[in-house]
Amino acid sequence: MSDRLPGFSTLAVHAGAQPDPTTGARATPIYQTTSFVFNDADHAASLFGLQAFGNIYTRIGNPTNAVLEERVAALEGGTAALAVASGHAAQVVVLQQLLQPGDEFIAARKLYGGSINQFTHAFKSFGWNVVWADPDDIASFERAVTPRTKAIFIESIANPGGSITDIEAISTVARKAGVPLIVDNTLASPYLIRPIDHGADIVVHSLTKFLGGHGNSLGGIIVDAGTFDWSTGGKYPMLSEPRPEYHGIRLQETFGNFAFAIACRVLGLRDLGPALSPFNAFMILTGIETLPLRMQRHCDNAKAVAEFLAGHPAVASVSYAGLPSDKYHQLARKYAPKGAGAVFTFSLKGGYDAGVNLVSKLQLFSHLANVGDTRSLVIHPASTTHSQLDDAAKVKSGAGPDVVRLSIGIEDKEDLIADLEQALGA
Ligand SMILES: *Cc1c(COP(=O)(O)O)cnc(C)c1O
Repeated sequence: MSDRLPGFSTLAVHAGAQPDPTTGARATPIYQTTSFVFNDADHAASLFGLQAFGNIYTRIGNPTNAVLEERVAALEGGTAALAVASGHAAQVVVLQQLLQPGDEFIAARKLYGGSINQFTHAFKSFGWNVVWADPDDIASFERAVTPRTKAIFIESIANPGGSITDIEAISTVARKAGVPLIVDNTLASPYLIRPIDHGADIVVHSLTKFLGGHGNSLGGIIVDAGTFDWSTGGKYPMLSEPRPEYHGIRLQETFGNFAFAIACRVLGLRDLGPALSPFNAFMILTGIETLPLRMQRHCDNAKAVAEFLAGHPAVASVSYAGLPSDKYHQLARKYAPKGAGAVFTFSLKGGYDAGVNLVSKLQLFSHLANVGDTRSLVIHPASTTHSQLDDAAKVKSGAGPDVVRLSIGIEDKEDLIADLEQALGA
C-alpha cells in the first residue's frame, strides 16, 4: 500500500466500508435489526455509560448507518457524522444541542422553503428565535448578533435561485461572535463545495437530494468539523456541563473534537428519535458511490440549459451562477470551480400565468417538490414551496411570482432543451 491520501472519488466508493467480517460480503450489508446482543453484563453497562463504543439499539446507531456516517464525514473533511431520518431532522437535532428556550440563531433569508417554515413556526414553539439576515449583505449578519445568539445558519448554494454564499466572510462574523457556523450543503454536495475548508463548524445535508441522488430515499446527516471550542463562556451547556443522563460526564472533555457529533447522537437522536432506517442508509450509500460522476453531469447539463434559456425571447432573466453574466459568478469561481450546481431559477416575461403554463406543458421534466434527482424536475415556487410567504418575502427569498425553479438531471441535455423549447413556444 502506498501512503498517498485517497482522492474524492476513491473515498466516495470506499470510505468507511470493509468486506463484511463474517460473510465476506463486499457491498455494505443492510443490518436490518433493531437491537444488538451484549457480550456480558459489564459490556452492556459500559455501552450505556458511554465508556465503550458499540451497538445497542438502532435508534442510537446501526452498522449500515455507521458506514454512511464515516463516508460523508470523509467526503466533507469532518471528524465524525451522525445520520438521521431527514434533512429537517438533522436541523432539529443540531439546534437542540445549541439553543435553550429564549435563545436566538441567525439564518440567511435565502433558504429551502421547508427550512423557512421550520425555523419560523416549529422552532418558535420550542422558544428558539430565528433572526433573518441577507446573505448578500454580510454586515446584516453582524448587526443581527446579540448576547443570546447561539449559531449562524446558511446554505452554501442557496435555494431557490442557486446563489452562492460567501462562506468565509460569514464564518468570520461567526468567529467574532463566538458562535458556530452551520452550513446546509445539500445543493452543492461535498463534490462541489466543502464548507469546512472555508470555516464551517457544522455541515448538514438533506441526503434525500444529490447525495442519495435517485429520488428514492429520505435521509439527513450532520457533520462535525471538530473546530469549535464548546467550553467558552458556558454558552453551550449540553456540551460543556456534566450530563446527568450519563453519570455526570462532560461531552467536550470526554470526546474532544468529535463531541458535537456525540451530543447529537446520545442526547439528540436518542431522545428525539428521528433515526434513519438502515435500508435507506444502504440506498444512499449506493448513490454516493457515483456522486462525482453524477454531480459533474448535473452541472454540465445545468450550464447548457441555463445558456439556452438566457437566449430565449420568452425568458426575462436566468439566475444561474455558472453564467459569466450572473451576479454570483465570481463567488462561484471561488467556491465551486467544478460547477455551480444544478438547481436554479429563471423568470418569464409572462409572469405568474406563464410560469404555471410552462410547468403544465413540460413533458420530460417532472413537476414535483424535490431537487437532486437523476431526473430533471420543475416547480413554480410562488404557488408551492414558497406559497406561505407574503409577496415581498417571496421576492426577497428569490421566489417571485414569475420565477420557475429547475433541478437539472443527468439525461441528454439536448432532450432537456428540446422539452423546454416546445413548452416555451407553445
Ligand atoms: C430538501 C432540503 C432540506 C430538507 O430535507 P428533507 O430530507 O426533505 O427533510 C433542507 N435543506 C435543503 C437545502 C433541502 O434541499
